[in-house]
Amino acid sequence: MKIACCGIAHETNTFTSLPTELADLNIRRGNEINDPVLAEFKSVEWARLLTASATPSGPITHAAYESLKNEILTGLEAALPLDGIYMPLHGAMEVTGIGDGESDLVIAVRELVGPDVPIAASLDLHGNVVPELCQAADILHAYRTAPHRDQDATRRRTIELLIRCIETGRRPASAHVRVPLLLPGEKAITEVEPGKTLYQRLPEIDAREGVWTASLMCGFAWADVPGAAMTVFVHADDGETARAGAVELAGEVWKQREKFGFDVETADIEESIRLAGEANGCVFLTDSGDNTTAGGAGDIPLFLEHLIRAESQNVLVAGISDKAAVFQCVEAGCGTEVELELGGKLDTNFKPLKVKAVVEHVSRNGREAVVLTEGIKLVIAADRRGYTRLQQFKDLGLDPLAFSIVVIKLGYLFPELRDIAPRHVMALSPGFSNEVIEELPYHSVQRPIYPLDRDFDFDAAGACRVFSRGS
Ligand SMILES: [Zn+2]
Repeated sequence: MKIACCGIAHETNTFTSLPTELADLNIRRGNEINDPVLAEFKSVEWARLLTASATPSGPITHAAYESLKNEILTGLEAALPLDGIYMPLHGAMEVTGIGDGESDLVIAVRELVGPDVPIAASLDLHGNVVPELCQAADILHAYRTAPHRDQDATRRRTIELLIRCIETGRRPASAHVRVPLLLPGEKAITEVEPGKTLYQRLPEIDAREGVWTASLMCGFAWADVPGAAMTVFVHADDGETARAGAVELAGEVWKQREKFGFDVETADIEESIRLAGEANGCVFLTDSGDNTTAGGAGDIPLFLEHLIRAESQNVLVAGISDKAAVFQCVEAGCGTEVELELGGKLDTNFKPLKVKAVVEHVSRNGREAVVLTEGIKLVIAADRRGYTRLQQFKDLGLDPLAFSIVVIKLGYLFPELRDIAPRHVMALSPGFSNEVIEELPYHSVQRPIYPLDRDFDFDAAGACRVFSRGS
């Protein structure tokens, strides 16, 4: 069977001033799409058309999106006839002048291939799924873990469900419920309650007679868009079975709305530094307002300024995004003292911080530098980069656990760091990914929505929309 693989995956933060241009996207075509999960399906002849992804940032520019979309549509047309289409998407893509990117793209693909070719898309659970997306696709299947541990399993399951459509000739009905609840991802971790119990309900619903798959999206709160909210969707043999599962789970989510909270200690920047200074052993502090993995700029020097003022020692800061500073360090070379004006160039609500530092290490590709300033080891990156995996530290010759304080521009710690961190305090710092969402200037999000609004009722059955492709 012949299946096309194509899609654009982007988590768009609409509060940032940084647009996403074509050059910011990592675009793969043909054999560059070397996802090992695709290779597991030996009976599939893959038409590897185009996939694109980028570090979370502002809306994708209209021109960039249109050029990718046109290339996908042209590629699909040339690849016809196709038995199915697999689309690796994210769920929180916004496009300038268009709005919701996933529904625009999938609707365009549907219009091109017609109603009979099944379309399946895998999603990150940090997305805002509008009913139109549910209507246009046959299968949507989302991650079930945050921090994410099941990316491969999600793509694999999505493709299995697509193949089920192809082999049986059947299409499931879909039920979609928007739950009017807006949460930063840090309040909806699937390893702690109430997320844990709610996510455990998914395999239970899957196991019911007639159900194909169920998904619960946490939503993406740093997007001031009408569709920003948690969503539940269920695919089943018939609309009633899908509706029953979706309405039930959506009702349970709503009942738990007041229980979603941060699973770690939180404090302002100064207090988090004080707590870490008093602790025995290593403490991880996350600079959550400037979280590059949620669309933060990654170049706010405020945390560093506070560390210097507090005279903190044996500290690792990973990192600050500053291309000019990295190139200055590379030019100067290891062992040299440099005067840097760090950060404040992407998120211009903050001013650059002047420091004197000694260059200790420069990465082989010249895009990262490690410097020592005032007893603080600081990683500077030319790109907006989240330090999420141990290998990234290893590559720079750094062992996070050797430091008393490790500051990272993240919200929650990604799995490898979460698993080793002896203690984690999340600093509620300012920036484009501010965790205190009540402080954000929302204008477009559909109201009422909890916790921006509190005095209203929600009827999951009334909010449920069912789509059927006549199977
Ligand atoms: Zn995510």
